[in-house]
Amino acid sequence: MTQFDQIIYPRWTLTINADNQVLENHAVAISDGKIARILPSEEARCLNANEKIELADHALLPGFVNLHTHVAMTLLRGFADDLPLMDWLNNHIWPVEKRWVSEAFVYDGTLLGMAEMLRGGVTTVNDMYYFPSAVARAGIDAGMRTFVGCVIAEFPSAYAQNAHEYLDKGLRAREQFEGEENIMFVLAPHAPYTVSEETFRKVAMLAEHEGMLVHCHIHETRDEIAQSMKTVGMRPLAYLKKTGLLSPRLTASHMVHLTDDEIALVAQQGVSVSHNPRSNMKLSSGIAPVAALLDAGVNIGIGTDGAASNNSLDILADMRLAALLAKVNGAPTAVSATTVLRMATVNGAKALGVGDRIGSIELGKQADLIAIDLSALETIPLFDPISQIVYSANREQVTHVWVNGECLMKERRLLKLDEQNLREMANAWQRKVIQS
Ligand SMILES: [Zn+2]
Repeated sequence: MTQFDQIIYPRWTLTINADNQVLENHAVAISDGKIARILPSEEARCLNANEKIELADHALLPGFVNLHTHVAMTLLRGFADDLPLMDWLNNHIWPVEKRWVSEAFVYDGTLLGMAEMLRGGVTTVNDMYYFPSAVARAGIDAGMRTFVGCVIAEFPSAYAQNAHEYLDKGLRAREQFEGEENIMFVLAPHAPYTVSEETFRKVAMLAEHEGMLVHCHIHETRDEIAQSMKTVGMRPLAYLKKTGLLSPRLTASHMVHLTDDEIALVAQQGVSVSHNPRSNMKLSSGIAPVAALLDAGVNIGIGTDGAASNNSLDILADMRLAALLAKVNGAPTAVSATTVLRMATVNGAKALGVGDRIGSIELGKQADLIAIDLSALETIPLFDPISQIVYSANREQVTHVWVNGECLMKERRLLKLDEQNLREMANAWQRKVIQS
């Protein structure tokens, strides 16, 4: 008789399959890191497993995908708030990064942010930052599925002096981690206002040639568009199209200000979008036209952006805002709870080219799963588990997290990371950064 590694018995299983099926009293059996069986709990009781996990008050769902963030910036959480984007970047964030960002800063900050994300149900992250090899090491140590964005910009930083050096270092880091199952490297040109046309062309060609994904900030603020009109005589999207950057490999982050023609262009080019509602609100960037993008058939996921502009990596909070903000300028029917849950799971997976491996609870997919306890007074009575999770639950109700079937959090206790160490490390960095 088959011996499964684990069998999980949740009250509800939110499959996020094509029909968004919600199963009640079903069990999920895991073998070799994959979902091997989904069957009624009663039938599953007679199966053999190394471990059986009873979650009588819980919903089991695919882990969340954080489609846009800069995880190491968790160390700059609350460092400079309530400022316009360019003032925030030029006069606060970039100077402190120049002074302090190092391999050690990025490793420590990424580990701290990953601990926070795991505690909030995120199992996959699409990051963009300096020192990508430090991000990759943190991803391995935390056990998260990590898309490591090799940031590319023209400006000098503590990491590289010019676009050539950024690119070169990123590709070398990629070679170093070849064969690591959970670590994928992504080309991450920072934004149209920090990267030259020549570099964008190079990135587009390299992505095509190497089969790499691309991750870029696009149309975040009105200023960005005005500046582009002044310097190159066209809006950033048109400019990027010219360089060959628009393709199904690209995740365009923000996309707040778009004309109808631009929405059609994005759909036609198969570009995925990361919607980052909290960051857009905090930096007064605006409200992205999510309903119109979805109507046009664009694949949209959800990102938290960095903790310095959010100020947390709480994807559930961003999911709730995505649903609510879509209704502010639209109709109460816009962007339902189910749609938002799909955005934070399967859509994110699809953007990262792994829609066939993660993002839903279906046979043969990797067991990237989370359990949410819905028995709290704040989440009863319970008529619809999806509504409850999106509109009422908070991330502290996430109790268990698995990636590839490996349990990374059990009853809210992180199994691979030491919370006390993380606390001491964060305090040590705070003392250093405060001197600058
Ligand atoms: Zn960002």
